[in-house]
Amino acid sequence: MDFDYVSNDPFGGIETKTIASVFIVVCVVLCVYYFLRYNREKTETPPNMEELGRSTWTLLHTMAAKYPYEADRNLQQDTMNFLQVFAKLYPCPKCSNHMMDYMNGRKPTLSGRFQFTKWLCDFHNSVNAKLGKRIFPLEKVEERWATAKVCTKEQKCSYS
Ligand SMILES: Cc1cc2nc3c(=O)[nH]c(=O)nc-3n(C[C@H](O)[C@H](O)[C@H](O)COP(=O)(O)OP(=O)(O)OC[C@H]3O[C@@H](n4cnc5c(N)ncnc54)[C@H](O)[C@@H]3O)c2cc1C
Repeated sequence: MDFDYVSNDPFGGIETKTIASVFIVVCVVLCVYYFLRYNREKTETPPNMEELGRSTWTLLHTMAAKYPYEADRNLQQDTMNFLQVFAKLYPCPKCSNHMMDYMNGRKPTLSGRFQFTKWLCDFHNSVNAKLGKRIFPLEKVEERWATAKVCTKEQKCSYS
């Protein structure tokens, strides 16, 4: 008589231990994935004043660090307009007022990279002073915002 061979080993000889290990690894990977995802969602909340400030300074100092060494009249005018509108719209009333007052007393110098960088550093230092924070040295600005040693091929600090 001919019987079809019915195996009671559904995994074709693979050891139960191996299957259990693969199963555990998959579970661990899934747990880590959902843990990280959950935490990322949890931290995606609106910024407070400090977070907003840090991100904003990052944008402004980086803009100044990439500004042309010599800016033509059109760019100077555009940058002035940007700063004025920016100060008006900055979503923190006391910060916005401070920036508008500062700009009334000390008009932004926008003829080139060094002038813009210096004006911005001075302005940021005026906020630092108001908040009792340390004054940032002008000579460190270029390294901090444009040429730090971490700027390698992998960790790019150039956006072109
Ligand atoms: C336009 C504006 C006005 C603000 N006004 C107020 C305010 O009135 N009251 C208030 O409570 N907060 C204000 N803030 C927020 C405040 O300035 C800080 O951003 C916030 O307190 C977080 O500070 P921080 O110590 O993390 O460093 P930040 O001051 O955010 O600085 C970020 C980084 O910039 C670098 N840095 C510091 N100073 C300079 C500088 N002079 N030049 C170049 N680089 C520098 C440092 O590496 C520093 O870690 C304002 C922010 C902005 C953008």
